[in-house]
Amino acid sequence: MAELTQPATVLSITDLTPHVRQLVVLPKIQRFLFQPGQWVSLQLPIGAKPPLNRAYSMAEPPSPAGQLTLVFDRVPDGIGSSYLYGLKPGDELLLSGPYGNFVLPRSLDRDLLFISRYTGLVPIRCMLKRLAASGVLPQSILIAVGPAENEWLYHDELLALAARHPSFRYMPVAVNGTDQDVVGDTVKLLRPLLTGRPKVTPLLSGVKGFVRPLRAYLTEIGYDRKEVKTETYN
Ligand SMILES: Cc1cc2nc3c(=O)[nH]c(=O)nc-3n(C[C@H](O)[C@H](O)[C@H](O)COP(=O)(O)OP(=O)(O)OC[C@H]3O[C@@H](n4cnc5c(N)ncnc54)[C@H](O)[C@@H]3O)c2cc1C
Repeated sequence: MAELTQPATVLSITDLTPHVRQLVVLPKIQRFLFQPGQWVSLQLPIGAKPPLNRAYSMAEPPSPAGQLTLVFDRVPDGIGSSYLYGLKPGDELLLSGPYGNFVLPRSLDRDLLFISRYTGLVPIRCMLKRLAASGVLPQSILIAVGPAENEWLYHDELLALAARHPSFRYMPVAVNGTDQDVVGDTVKLLRPLLTGRPKVTPLLSGVKGFVRPLRAYLTEIGYDRKEVKTETYN
């Protein structure tokens, strides 16, 4: 059955970094039940042939009140993200979902390795919140790459999570360069974490230019393509 498309009201707007904004929205007709890592499709009344569909991952696990937390960066000349930056509390959006298979593995029999670039952290943050709330944060590492230190998302929260859970290691990285530079720096960090160690479950999220070469690196060192979970943003 196709997911219902319904209006949602913007409840609040918060700037998380100079170029990343959070919208909390409340669907007006039906509650959303979703798994951390999933996303909604926004149907925006803009573009040459409206609606313009854009996907956004949930940043918070489902809440009793039913609101959804969406977090996005302002893409230079990006038509969808510029429209979202113009919204105010009380405005409405059309959305449908949830969609997507980028979710936590059913059995947590391997350590988890999360790798994100910039707002690619959004679905991963949602998974980490769910794991922390369930009381079992398995052995896990997060490499979170951002374009600058002041663009690290959820930095204080993730530092606090690592302080509370010795099983969780947080590795923020600031790299502002080409996809090749960013991937190169990430592989340098990954190598000592993976070489000679038991296999982990890698979960990669961000734009294709980041996710695909990292998946290729992982398959080169012995991972099956299916063992690498990915979410690509473009
Ligand atoms: C499953 C899925 C989940 C997503 N979840 C999120 C999310 O939680 N937060 C979020 O910010 N975006 C997310 N996106 C991307 C989002 O749907 C839009 O593509 C993004 O906001 C850019 O749209 P735009 O119309 O502003 O830019 P466009 O005019 O479509 O231009 C996109 C161009 O900007 C570059 N770019 C820079 N940053 C991004 C980015 N964050 N995403 C995509 N392209 C980028 C790309 O290289 C691309 O060439 C998701 C995409 C998918 C497919």
